[in-house]
Amino acid sequence: MNEEKRTEIGEIGEFGLIDRITEKFEIKNQKIVKGIGDDAAVYDIGDKYLLITSDMLLEGVHFDLSYIPLSHLGYKTVAVNISDIAAMNGIPSQITVNLGLSNRFSIEAVDSLYEGIKAACDEYKVDLVGGDTTSSSSGLVISVTALGEVDRDKITYRSGAMENDILCVTGDLGGAFAGLQVLEREKQEFLANPEMQPQLNTYDYVVGRQLRPKARMDMVYELKDLSIQPTSMIDISDGLASEAFHLCKQSGLGISIYEEKVPIEKQTYETSAEFSIDPNSCALNGGEDYELLFTIKQEDFEKIKNHSDIHTIGYMQSAKKGRTFITRSQHIVELQAQGWKHF
Ligand code: ADP
Ligand code: MG
Repeated sequence: MNEEKRTEIGEIGEFGLIDRITEKFEIKNQKIVKGIGDDAAVYDIGDKYLLITSDMLLEGVHFDLSYIPLSHLGYKTVAVNISDIAAMNGIPSQITVNLGLSNRFSIEAVDSLYEGIKAACDEYKVDLVGGDTTSSSSGLVISVTALGEVDRDKITYRSGAMENDILCVTGDLGGAFAGLQVLEREKQEFLANPEMQPQLNTYDYVVGRQLRPKARMDMVYELKDLSIQPTSMIDISDGLASEAFHLCKQSGLGISIYEEKVPIEKQTYETSAEFSIDPNSCALNGGEDYELLFTIKQEDFEKIKNHSDIHTIGYMQSAKKGRTFITRSQHIVELQAQGWKHF
């Protein structure tokens, strides 16, 4: 009998799997400046670099149609791709959209989805230039590929951070995860009592963060206006801790993050408290905030120190010093991608 070896994906995880795929492929085309491993692939088109990125959202995994309106879903799918272009310090230009639809969806439903896609195309000034449509037997599948451009000397990789660079984050964190908790609770209450009207008014901010996140293109323009060239950058799709790890790994460095500096909105605090979740955990491990995490040279600190939407939360240190999280009570603990453990 032929006994083939079977290894569960869970044993190596998503990133281990991507590394394994990458190992087997050599770049053949010299114009590829960066293949797998950053927020977008980079292609040399002469005076500029072309950026290419793709993200897929699956019903039942990434979204639940009982609480995300289709127009928001359309908007979000585009925004999360634009966010990866922003993370390379690039300007988005085109998208393609691939759809898997079951007969559960009417023309009106597809119209709503595209209403959101159009709103995002208008907001981020990108053109829809193609895609593919198929039937799906397992719920809605929506995948977007975004293209963008960046000046050769403006590109930012995950790998460019240097020791003592200042770590910055835009906006605030943890809101999207807190919003998801509210939506999940409302769904359970609705299932138990379909007469019930959802009470979302007091959670408008966090619910908005979950259902209709913005790509921080405004920050890409702002950094340019401030004459700041980030040394490294990534967008926060998986939570601050995980993204900070990517910057560390690819820059060959350690990191230090101060708990008191991590920006968390009042409503995120209040909602977390209601669900008995540590708000820091929402920020560090929650994900889906789509803010930008980047490093700058110390000499650029003056330019952003009073900026209301850019927060300095730590600094890069040698790999030997490790990845540390300094609590409000000044305890130094190890930064963990899922919670953290004391030394
Ligand atoms: P992000 O969170 O910024 O979208 P991911 O963690 O999804 O980035 O992906 C990290 C890198 O791995 C990217 O360069 C992406 O293009 C690449 N990647 C992800 N999945 C695959 C795959 N199935 N095959 C090849 N490359 C992949
Ligand atoms: Mg990304």
